[in-house]
Amino acid sequence: MSTESIYRGEITVIFHGALTDFFKSKSESCTIQFQLREKTSLKHIIEALGVPHPEVGKILVNQQEADLTFHPLPGDLIHIYPGQLDQQTSTDNCPKFILDNHLGKLTAYLRLLGIDAGYNPKFEDADIAQIAAEQGRIVLTRDRGLLKRKVIQRGYCVRADNPLSQLDEVTRQFQLASYFKPFTRCPRCNGLLERVAKEAILQHLLPLTRQYYNEFSRCSQCGQIYWKGSHYDRIKPIIQRFAIINNEEK
Ligand SMILES: [Zn+2]
Repeated sequence: MSTESIYRGEITVIFHGALTDFFKSKSESCTIQFQLREKTSLKHIIEALGVPHPEVGKILVNQQEADLTFHPLPGDLIHIYPGQLDQQTSTDNCPKFILDNHLGKLTAYLRLLGIDAGYNPKFEDADIAQIAAEQGRIVLTRDRGLLKRKVIQRGYCVRADNPLSQLDEVTRQFQLASYFKPFTRCPRCNGLLERVAKEAILQHLLPLTRQYYNEFSRCSQCGQIYWKGSHYDRIKPIIQRFAIINNEEK
């Protein structure tokens, strides 16, 4: 028997929890028989079945823990569990994200709530992957292909279509509510906002704004000026929404 042929045969792969979302399965787990044709890593097998590797947590092969580099043999029984929160967020710090260019609205919502959310509609997949790796950002995307890139360690495939539902989903997934700091970050560019005295920006204000508003912030990065009229009205329903969700969870 050649060394390669020992890798030919059937394995059983069972996906658990949120990973079953990738199979439109309504049950708690999803069992798949997979035909091995050659020496193949678990990463390759899992992604061939449509599950992006950054969402994978614990792996058990015949009751023994294994990682994505493991090469299974025919007859192996493999349980794959979703990644836990502590694998995604290492410390008490708020997680930082980078979003693909289909998630512009979700990006703006996260920034409005003060979450560090990198985004640029001109970014290619390779840029996103590289920035995520260099800056320790979690990739948020609806494109499983992007998450399959090896360089991406932490990422999440957003399930919902609607931007507000996506915000709910990501907030729950990463337990972001306790990190929310509304009015601290620029929704246009992700820069931090600084309080600025009205006198310092008078020349940039329209007459009615000058007349009715006294509290202003300015983006430290792009210089955009915000006051409670524009910024606040936009964000208020979102804050109220999360105040309700938080109370439900307590
Ligand atoms: Zn800005």
